[in-house]
Amino acid sequence: KRHVVPAKVHGINVDWVDERALNVVRTLQDRGFEAYIVGGAVRDLLLGLKPKDFDVATNATPEQVKAAFRRAFIIGRRFRIVHVVYGRGREHEVIEVSTFRAHLDNADAEQVKGNERSSKQELANMKHAVDASGRVLRDNVWGPQDQDAARRDFTINAMYYDPETGNVIDYHGGIADAKKKVIRMIGDPALRYREDPVRVIRAVRFAAKLAGLGFKMEAKTAAPLKRAAKLLADVPQSRLFDEMLKLLQTGHALASIEQLKQHGLAKGIYPLLDIVVERANEQFVTTALNDTDRRVGEGKPVAPSFLLACVLWSDVRETWAHRSVKQPSFPALQDAIDEVFDSRIGDVSGRGKLGADMREIWMMQPRFEKRTGSGPWTLVDQARFRAGFDFMRLRADVGEVDEALSDWWQEFSIASDSEREDLLQQVR
Ligand code: ATP
Ligand code: MG
Repeated sequence: KRHVVPAKVHGINVDWVDERALNVVRTLQDRGFEAYIVGGAVRDLLLGLKPKDFDVATNATPEQVKAAFRRAFIIGRRFRIVHVVYGRGREHEVIEVSTFRAHLDNADAEQVKGNERSSKQELANMKHAVDASGRVLRDNVWGPQDQDAARRDFTINAMYYDPETGNVIDYHGGIADAKKKVIRMIGDPALRYREDPVRVIRAVRFAAKLAGLGFKMEAKTAAPLKRAAKLLADVPQSRLFDEMLKLLQTGHALASIEQLKQHGLAKGIYPLLDIVVERANEQFVTTALNDTDRRVGEGKPVAPSFLLACVLWSDVRETWAHRSVKQPSFPALQDAIDEVFDSRIGDVSGRGKLGADMREIWMMQPRFEKRTGSGPWTLVDQARFRAGFDFMRLRADVGEVDEALSDWWQEFSIASDSEREDLLQQVR
């Protein structure tokens, strides 16, 4: 049932659509392809929210899309798409272009034994593959638009907007569900969670994002969540980590935690997320989550390292205090951080830049207490000073450090050199 809904009915204002997304659609249509704005952007436009990014769906293959743009890159193995890139540096923007996919029965797929890692070789030449439990490992068979719609997750995420005609193409009653304020899985929810267990987390994320507008999860969509969450054990840790960050950093962290609890998912999705949920009521963590939600709401950037440093701070602080009995303070902190990384973070994020940034934030904390000599001058010039300072200010908010110390650093960080000399005099 293909419904073509004109602009005067759905009310989307084309002025809200990003210029570069319009350009992508136009370029593809000029080459004779079908092209639409799709997914979350259509949902948000329909609900009067400002989309944070724009995805385009087309019947052009990734190679054909790539050929149509100057800067375009084919990425992804499980799900091949094209990134069309506009602008450079901080201002750059990526429009994701995906080719219409066929909605295939798992019976049609090639079945891979073992997990994604062990079967990489086997998977290399497959276009559509599932593992023994039905989880989709490759989804790269092209198909017509109606099938592309059927393999999307929720009805409100499966609409196509043509900015040239102003029409929305709606196969699954997305517009009606948006009016009724329900989040409804397309097809049989239990089966759809089995195909891709990450949809469990996505259901929670959209429920949290839209709760403020009065949306509820449809009962049939919500019912299998708890059981389906067990299937997340087979999903690569890196993908779960990314999904966790989306729950916590897209402006609805506290609402997401609320939804997790409501649906019996407080535990078991991802170890680090379990800790976040467990500690969400601790004042320091609540403050950090609130702060993150507020910053995202104001369009300010948030760093995962900052939030995770907040979440694990009580472990670091306790281990540090414990070790400080027998060890000088600074190495005690260093060792405490190692210990917490070993026990809490596991293999994904303890290493690399994220872990290094968390460590830097924590290692700066004792340095705020020493306001003599050259210490403050070098600290304030450190690249990550702002993050360390914001962290210290949160600690002040919960009474862990003196409010006066936080105010002093605020002054010091914005003062001129001579004013800084004065400020240092005052604490001698
Ligand atoms: P957001 O506003 O957070 O970006 P979104 O709905 O745009 O939300 P994306 O992850 O950007 O989410 O995905 C774009 C679209 O692709 C979705 O709206 C949905 O139609 C489809 N999609 C993404 N992930 C899945 C999935 N795991 N299963 C089925 N469809 C998916
Ligand atoms: Mg999106």
